Amino acid sequence: MTTMDEPEWDQETRDLALAHAQVDLCPSCGGPAYLCQDPELQDSWRVPAPTRCHRSTALLQAQLKVTEKTNPQVGALLWSTVLADDAVRRG
Ligand SMILES: [Zn+2]
Repeated sequence: MTTMDEPEWDQETRDLALAHAQVDLCPSCGGPAYLCQDPELQDSWRVPAPTRCHRSTALLQAQLKVTEKTNPQVGALLWSTVLADDAVRRG
């Protein structure tokens, strides 16, 4: 909740946002272009092992079952996901 005594953004956050807004972003990866397009850093990038998103996995599996033949204009389907009622949520 925002009150007059408690501004939503403090000066530090505002400065950070302004600095970020002035950085050119790479159209490929979305990161700061000065980093990902720096030839000096060409061999400095590492790719950690991926984490699986089970929500996306379920969605992709469901989408594979639908074809243009079973659902004409398949591209117009609006997909969503919900967590099963019996799912244990942690954290
Ligand atoms: Zn990039």
